[in-house]
Amino acid sequence: MKKLGQLTLVCGSMYAGKSEELIRLARRALYAKKKVQVFKPAIDTRYDEQHVVTHMGVQHEAVPVKGVRELCKALKPDTEVVCVEEVQFFDKSIVEVLIELADKGMEVICAGLDQDFRRQPFGPMAELMAAADQVVKLRAICVQCGRPASHTQRIIEGKPAKWDDPIVLIGATESYEARCRACYQMKKPKKKA
Ligand code: ADP
Ligand code: ZN
Repeated sequence: MKKLGQLTLVCGSMYAGKSEELIRLARRALYAKKKVQVFKPAIDTRYDEQHVVTHMGVQHEAVPVKGVRELCKALKPDTEVVCVEEVQFFDKSIVEVLIELADKGMEVICAGLDQDFRRQPFGPMAELMAAADQVVKLRAICVQCGRPASHTQRIIEGKPAKWDDPIVLIGATESYEARCRACYQMKKPKKKA
């Protein structure tokens, strides 16, 4: 019988534990003596370039790749488990590539932010959710009220960012917080008729 692959997507807001879950699954595969490769986008320079690092500082080796093409080139022929961290930063062509790998019998595990700070589907995430065999959606804890948080609040100079604030604000201090539905602050502009 043909090898049965699968596509698992771990998603949620910032601080939800996506990297922890990805590392946990990668380690389990290693204990099972599977050949594992972990990739991350080269633009994610959070903490360390050659590793996936969680907010608590747990880390695992990862190969930084500039895009989907570089990821495909770096894939070894005997790899059985492919893990992709911060998958929301890849372009949409990642969806077809990951489906193809799973169809070929590989175990594909990817993790990423399902929503951007405006609560819109982040890059390829909506399509990946549709294509996945298994979706693991995690929640963080709201920093305002302590309840489960599904959203990522962007903060600029201590205040909630507005819908139209530029993606890169030069010189401004910027951060992100996990917030629940009740504490998340963002006014969506009305659609013009
Ligand atoms: P993600 O990859 O989803 O951003 P990480 O796996 O890197 O998250 O980190 C998750 C860890 O961050 C949690 O286990 C917890 O120890 C810590 N943490 C810090 N702030 C929060 C928060 N607001 N809610 C939940 N966990 C938090
Ligand atoms: Zn809250």
